[in-house]
Amino acid sequence: MSNNLQTPIDYLKGVGPNRADLLRKELSIHTYQDLINLFPNRYLDRTQYYKINQLQRNTAEVQIIGEIISLKEVAQKRGKRLVATFKDDTGTMELVWFRGQKWIRESIKLKKPYVVFGKVNWFNGVFSMPHPDMELLEEHQKNLSSAMQPIYPSTEKLSNKGISNRVVNKIMQQLFLETKGRFVESLPESILSELKLTSKSEAVFNIHFPKNQEQLARAQFRLKFEELFYIQLQLILKNLIHKSKIKGLPFTQVGTHFNTFYKNHLPFQLTSAQKRVLKEIRQDLGSNAQMNRLLQGDVGSGKTIVAFMSMLIALDNGFQACLMAPTEILSVQHHNGFKELSNNLNISIKLLTGSSNTSERKEIHKSLENGELDILIGTHALLEDKVKFQNLGLAIIDEQHRFGVEQRSKLWRKGPPKFSQNGPDSGATPPHILVMTATPIPRTLAMSVYGDLDISVIDELPPGRQAIKTVHRYDTNRLKVFRFIRDEIDKGRQIYMVYPLIQESEKMDYKDLMDGYESVARDFPPPKYQISIVHGQMKPADKDYEMQRFIKGETNIMVATTVIEVGVNVPNASVMIIESAERFGLSQLHQLRGRVGRGAEQSYCILMTSHKLSNDSKKRIETMCRTNDGFEIAEVDLNLRGPGDIMGTQQSGVLNLKIADLLKDKDILQSARYYAKKILSSDPTLKAPENKTILHTYQQLSKYKNIWNYIS
Ligand code: ADP
Ligand code: MG
Repeated sequence: MSNNLQTPIDYLKGVGPNRADLLRKELSIHTYQDLINLFPNRYLDRTQYYKINQLQRNTAEVQIIGEIISLKEVAQKRGKRLVATFKDDTGTMELVWFRGQKWIRESIKLKKPYVVFGKVNWFNGVFSMPHPDMELLEEHQKNLSSAMQPIYPSTEKLSNKGISNRVVNKIMQQLFLETKGRFVESLPESILSELKLTSKSEAVFNIHFPKNQEQLARAQFRLKFEELFYIQLQLILKNLIHKSKIKGLPFTQVGTHFNTFYKNHLPFQLTSAQKRVLKEIRQDLGSNAQMNRLLQGDVGSGKTIVAFMSMLIALDNGFQACLMAPTEILSVQHHNGFKELSNNLNISIKLLTGSSNTSERKEIHKSLENGELDILIGTHALLEDKVKFQNLGLAIIDEQHRFGVEQRSKLWRKGPPKFSQNGPDSGATPPHILVMTATPIPRTLAMSVYGDLDISVIDELPPGRQAIKTVHRYDTNRLKVFRFIRDEIDKGRQIYMVYPLIQESEKMDYKDLMDGYESVARDFPPPKYQISIVHGQMKPADKDYEMQRFIKGETNIMVATTVIEVGVNVPNASVMIIESAERFGLSQLHQLRGRVGRGAEQSYCILMTSHKLSNDSKKRIETMCRTNDGFEIAEVDLNLRGPGDIMGTQQSGVLNLKIADLLKDKDILQSARYYAKKILSSDPTLKAPENKTILHTYQQLSKYKNIWNYIS
């Protein structure tokens, strides 16, 4: 049975070479199987009948039973329209035709019960239905069309070439005739009965030919579950294989560096979330498998110290460690921070960025290779081929969303060579990998996209933080905002002022920034006030100089583009002003706001906008003013933009679901994951007889490139 589903679509009666070509090109339908999986986008509910007095102005498509009591022609600007008065036992309405009037006139029967179907308009005080679908009640009762009507995905080309929805429907009926509507069950009996799911054959029939809402809902549930179940199975299997096949560097001990630091030099007490995450990391490092972990934590949640302490474990086991950050500023800051943390420890830390000079580089290369250097921090300069470690044991990536999967895998190859009995192996043993992100990914999405990574979450901010107050102000209120800034500066605080940066119009952004700078400089003149300015067109050294002045507190205001977005830490800065806030995305706004609120003082975020705001912008601003919770913001963002945009094109393949929807079907996803985990934990190879169905389906699906092509 399963074989004939691989039959090319050309062979289906009623398709033929031309239509087959179109179906292939327009909808990627090559086989019977593909056609079955062409799920309707929506359904017209023809099981419900409306009464005329139930119609509302915004009613969508409706179906009404009644009689035509009269017909008339009404002249209009061009030509005329045909208007029928249609009546049921609750009232009257109009049916209207602008074309094909002759045919209608001749074929219509007065005072006979009809079923009309279509969209209604409210016009001149009456409801009217233009060009209704209509059939005599008698006929209607004989036909299958009295059910839910599926509306299939289509393209302009398809409808132009006559492959209408009706035609697709016909072809689908033919398919069910030829296959007798019997399809191999793809879920095991245990799941079917536990979740009371309908069988595969029944579900597939009802998704295409449902008789009522309830049947449809059951069919949808079952097919969504199946889709998500096999994706989760795939991800979990990948993770299991990874753990059993890819040997990790064994970090067997927690030694002097870690213990000394933990006992004597911790600058503050760790939050319980930080402790929990450290424990998870230690467990990974101590196991025989390579760690591949994602650490999520909102801005300011304290990921850095976790990174640092994980590195100490690597050092205690005789390995080197590195940290890669997306920008020069951030690398410098991490470097300084790590130096300070390691003040009383005997370890060496160096910084490598695009602006490191030749002699610095030489020195770094040498000390990395001979093992003198313990920790290297830097930008993607770390990925250069010349950078060779003696024995890299742990690689940490900060702000993962700025780097691609490719960069992650480049770090993999920087591990120490494998040794086998015959000497060094060609491949390298991958270092343990920890990726950190402050862009919280809603759990449902993380599960689907980063299924191959283990996930740790710091879900708690260090104590004593006051929630940042966020307000929205229009540009017209700038004077008031400036007055507020002046008061804060008088209290000794520092201010960020951020301007948007959009690649395509760098020149304009630069002008905006400079105009802004000039107006700030006018209102905050030296010598009383000092202003730093940082933007993308400056030399790294100048950027760093300006940044350092602000960090040291020599300047009161930092005017900048989004280069300061990630990670910068100046606890004394307590006001973040975001100019043209409507031009920023939600996660970016949240990141920017995270630059303040790092000290003990009350902090503020002021979102400046013009009066012209789109609905989405309004929603973003409103969300920012309402909450500080990164995960909540990420959910809103997901709803506004959709998963594809958030994850970038790179991972969008994962989100190419046929029927399930990651946003709406969270619960089904949870359940699918639960069952996938449960089954794999008792039978990781799927060899048990009761899992035969799963193994078989899984193997079939794996052959199916277009469904599984995201597996890298
Ligand atoms: P992020 O997670 O955004 O990278 P950081 O690691 O930069 O956050 O930490 C933000 C600030 O909070 C830093 O100034 C850091 O020293 C401080 N911090 C981190 N953990 C704690 C803690 N447990 N108690 C008090 N302050 C902490
Ligand atoms: Mg950070």
